[in-house]
Amino acid sequence: MGLNWFMAEGRGLVIVIEDEPSIAEVERLYLTQAGYGVHVERDGVAGLASIRTLRPVAVVLDVGLPGIDGIEVCRALRAADDWTPLIFVTARDDEVDRVLGLELGADDYLTKPFSPRELVARIRSILRRHDGPGAPTTLIVGAITLDPPRRTVTANGMDVSLTATEFDLLEKLMGAPGQVFSREQLLSSVWGHVDYGSGRTVDVHVAQVRAKLGGASPIRTVHGVGYTAAES
Ligand code: CA
Repeated sequence: MGLNWFMAEGRGLVIVIEDEPSIAEVERLYLTQAGYGVHVERDGVAGLASIRTLRPVAVVLDVGLPGIDGIEVCRALRAADDWTPLIFVTARDDEVDRVLGLELGADDYLTKPFSPRELVARIRSILRRHDGPGAPTTLIVGAITLDPPRRTVTANGMDVSLTATEFDLLEKLMGAPGQVFSREQLLSSVWGHVDYGSGRTVDVHVAQVRAKLGGASPIRTVHGVGYTAAES
């Protein structure tokens, strides 16, 4: 127990919100073995309360939950400007479509059934991107200024709140202005894997960043190729 606590302190707390006990238990087991502290909640209301009080480093959020569902939990967090990294766990393809289509500010998603090792890999990837060493210099393209160490973005001097994934995507593009990146390149370098879904994931996140940056967005579509960051 003492050792578990030490390791948990080292990597931080992950909150799992999952109403199927067997799935929650497997998630708890693998995340604990990977060195995270794990707190499990069975419904959306209790989960939301725990996120707010326990301040986890990441949340694994089932979509289909009693009470308020995972989508409402995510909405409530983001509406309160809480950008805790969040992975959705979806049971069906239509849930994936809802998660992607609603532009909720999730950082990743997994579809059941998934390998628990994959869950751990995704959590690590998200936290590496969230906390890892970024480029040390401020990036400026047009009216957008991005500060990698502080993970802040301003548009015309006004703060803009981006999810961890949205930030990483914008940082990748702004780090090499004018360079065109394919969707596959962006999936690989921003998400750390190329094996889920299609370029649609990239497109959805680009749309989210554009919506938040408004007319100041430096992201240009290069038809048939991908995306680039450039001054307008
Ligand atoms: Ca469920």
